[in-house]
Amino acid sequence: MLEAREAVRRLKEYHPPLGGRLGLRLDFNENTVGCSPRVLERLRQLQFDQLARYPERESVERQVAAHLGVDPAGLLLTNGVDEAIHLVCETYLEPADEVLIGVPTFSMYEIYAAATGARVVTIPARADFSYPTDDVLARISPRTRLIAIANPNNPTGAVVARGDLLRILRAASDAAVLVDEAYFDFYGESLLADVASHFNLFVARTFSKAYGLAGLRIGVLVGSVAQMAMVRRVGSPYNVNAVALPCLLEALADHEYVRQYVTEVRQGREQLEQELRSLKLRFWASQANFVLVSVGERHDAFVRAMRERGILVRDRSRDPGCDGCVRISVGSNEQTEQLIVALREVVRAIAPAGVPA
Ligand code: PMP
Repeated sequence: MLEAREAVRRLKEYHPPLGGRLGLRLDFNENTVGCSPRVLERLRQLQFDQLARYPERESVERQVAAHLGVDPAGLLLTNGVDEAIHLVCETYLEPADEVLIGVPTFSMYEIYAAATGARVVTIPARADFSYPTDDVLARISPRTRLIAIANPNNPTGAVVARGDLLRILRAASDAAVLVDEAYFDFYGESLLADVASHFNLFVARTFSKAYGLAGLRIGVLVGSVAQMAMVRRVGSPYNVNAVALPCLLEALADHEYVRQYVTEVRQGREQLEQELRSLKLRFWASQANFVLVSVGERHDAFVRAMRERGILVRDRSRDPGCDGCVRISVGSNEQTEQLIVALREVVRAIAPAGVPA
């Protein structure tokens, strides 16, 4: 019998649906219309030797650093933010170290942190899902080596005020503070410029969401130059593939495409929130490309009924504090219209809690 490490045996399984996602996919917070057509054009131009060679990350990193206005020595392209989280955990965590995460939040912080043998301390969000800054500050100890914060948060769409993040950074000077800005494009506020002045700050961004490149697996981790030299030691020199690199540059160059998509998503989010208000469904104001909605006990029936109408939404009812909640991603204006039609029918058909039958 071959035994996995104890920390691995104890890990919770995380099973997002990995197949059969037919319909309008409002379940994964992806870009629902796809990437810039310029990216596909670039893809078609790839030559066979580009696939034969190991990818060369460095010059692309310099260009991405210039785009973000950061020091290239403090920037690492990663295989999605997932890998960025993994690398930070591998760099800083020893067994018995403590990791603080506010919950509900993105699952991969807990998985990668716990896999190192570190102890994950989950701190519940406040009743309105706002970030529990004071509780987090109160839990910081000399053993705290990582605090991971999604800003905006997934699945709630809630954000943490800049002042609160800075307080945490100052209070946790023995810990890496990872601010995951996967949904930055839909929000607009960032701590990226603070990396130069805070040695324990790491900021992660992804090109999976607004840029529509989730399938290419590309993200970026930015930190202080000294710390990123450590993070680089644990990663593969070829973590980002040779297709993703040129495609990323093309995607970055098409500012207008992303700007337009983000504008539609923001409009759609407002439209969806208005509709939820009139349907008398409870929801939480979001700064991301999704909205968390409470549909009550019949969350299963809700998700099923939406699927029958060709729309996939994500049941989040098992997340801490999210009883009866589903998360609905927002896409283009046309898709939002389609969503709202389905939503009205489903609410009428299954009458979730709080809605008159
Ligand atoms: N962070 C957050 C908060 C997310 O919601 C997600 C995707 N669901 C990720 C990171 C993963 O991003 P990537 O596709 O870049 O690995």
